[in-house]
Amino acid sequence: MEDRPKTDLRQQPEQRAQASPCGVGCKSGADVRGWITTIAQRRNLGLSDPEAYARAWRMIVDVNPFPATMGRVCPHPCESGCNRIGKDEAVSVNQMERFLGDWALRADMSLERLETDEKPESIGVIGSGPAGLSFAYQMARRGYAVTLYERNPKAGGMLRYGIPVYRLPEAVLDAEIQRILDLGVELKLDTRIGRDISVEQLESLHSIVFLGIGAQSGRVLGIPGEPGPGSWTGTEYLRRVNQGERVALGRRVAVIGGGNTAVDAARAARRGGAEISLFYRRTRAEMPAIAGEIDEAIEEGIQLRYLVAPTEIIRNGETLESLVLTKMKLGAADASGRRRPLPVAGSEYRVGVDSVIAAVSQESDWSGLEPYHFDADASPVERSGKTAEHVWAGGDVLGLGVAGTAIGTGRRASEAVHARLRGLLEPALDPPDPIAVGPAKLDHYAERPRAAPQALPASARLQQPDAEIHLGLSEEQFLEEASRCLSCGQCFGCEQCWMYCSHNCFTRLEDVKPGMYYAVALEACQACGKCIDICPCDFLQIRSLEAPA
Ligand SMILES: Cc1cc2nc3c(=O)[nH]c(=O)nc-3n(C[C@H](O)[C@H](O)[C@H](O)COP(=O)(O)OP(=O)(O)OC[C@H]3O[C@@H](n4cnc5c(N)ncnc54)[C@H](O)[C@@H]3O)c2cc1C
Repeated sequence: MEDRPKTDLRQQPEQRAQASPCGVGCKSGADVRGWITTIAQRRNLGLSDPEAYARAWRMIVDVNPFPATMGRVCPHPCESGCNRIGKDEAVSVNQMERFLGDWALRADMSLERLETDEKPESIGVIGSGPAGLSFAYQMARRGYAVTLYERNPKAGGMLRYGIPVYRLPEAVLDAEIQRILDLGVELKLDTRIGRDISVEQLESLHSIVFLGIGAQSGRVLGIPGEPGPGSWTGTEYLRRVNQGERVALGRRVAVIGGGNTAVDAARAARRGGAEISLFYRRTRAEMPAIAGEIDEAIEEGIQLRYLVAPTEIIRNGETLESLVLTKMKLGAADASGRRRPLPVAGSEYRVGVDSVIAAVSQESDWSGLEPYHFDADASPVERSGKTAEHVWAGGDVLGLGVAGTAIGTGRRASEAVHARLRGLLEPALDPPDPIAVGPAKLDHYAERPRAAPQALPASARLQQPDAEIHLGLSEEQFLEEASRCLSCGQCFGCEQCWMYCSHNCFTRLEDVKPGMYYAVALEACQACGKCIDICPCDFLQIRSLEAPA
């Protein structure tokens, strides 16, 4: 507790809600604390379980229309700052999101319009990945007529054609996309802008264009011997597998890279029965892939080889024979903050391979879209995503990221577009600083282990290659997990202030809501500071009475 003189009469409490680390960490911008505390405090709020679930789900879909999807694939940066880590383990936010997402699918919940009037402007969206869908959803719920153009036969972008079905079942993605379409969004599949419809035609149809084209093209390694049979990019290989194609890779497969695409390609190939070695030029600590996915890849028998980079592919005629690798050592940090890999002279060696999958990076495909081309590295894009007059962009086209970032940038662009079209104030883009672990008084909270979701063992995963491997939380686990939330920076009605105040300054409100349980009467306050010291979530702060200078 804070070391502060109790007799300082200049100090009285002030109820001041602060940002929570989970909310600030959430890439799609969800009020994580808000929806979790709605569940945790459902009885105080007079809500039945389904009422609380529905209210919490609505809070999520206000910014992210994909809770069931993201509850499966999000790398959950919201959890890394969770103050509960100082006590035991982070609250399992991502699994809770999935529970609510799945509950809402079973309950057939639909998305709601925000504004009932129809707006005169027509909006064209290129690409139906999470960025395009998020933008389309936010515009449609505000009453705009939205047309989504997608070059693939199905919507979803990398959520469908990149992430394998054992992590994200198609039915889940389909259902969450359908809800957006149910708002009246028109989806034109197999329609490539720049080929089937020109940019000029598009411009004549719509007053605003959103670019959600992602970074669909896998980069090749650019080493001798690479072009030809048996040589794949990770995105192309996964695209085929996710469309149900059986891709013949042979027995020995080398996957190159350390990101999600590399790990997904390796695991998908392992499910086809191949022996997989994944080669990465840095160490495990620098691998950008989701940590849990790496662990599962190892459990599934994938060999990870660190500090190596490919330099040549040796072929016998067309047939791939071996891969030449050079050992690396780590030098000083590069622009990404990660240590730069440097080749070790004379360390080349060969491994026999039947296929090589290069999953080193991806880039956007601008063919036919040249008038919209921008280079975010050369000249920074406006923070709302505006790239040109009437053109906004979001998601991977702005830089490779994760689905949450795509959803967040799509939403922020929509808010900016709506504000500009309607002459409204644009929402602030900077998140506030979150409350840190110091002020949250962890001693108040009991130790409780984090819920472990059920999952298929590695052997079963390989036997049923398409079966979903994570099975989520039970309802009991979900509710228990909600009660682990510390409600950082926001009152949760713990009654400590009310109990410890000797001067009856605190009165319980008749109509309580999350974050608002007590009124404070400062007339009676003796500024003893007890309530501030005792408040576990740092909602009560010192209010200086000194007159401003
Ligand atoms: C293999 C893999 C695994 C991943 N795993 C995860 C994960 O576990 N968690 C996570 O959060 N993120 C993950 N990501 C990243 C995440 O999928 C992306 O960040 C996200 O999908 C980007 O969304 P987007 O909408 O910008 O682009 P995309 O999802 O790439 O969608 C772009 C869409 O635009 C369409 N398009 C492009 N050009 C045109 C055109 N000219 N006309 C019409 N349509 C066009 C494309 O067909 C595509 O449907 C993964 C990515 C990959 C490749």
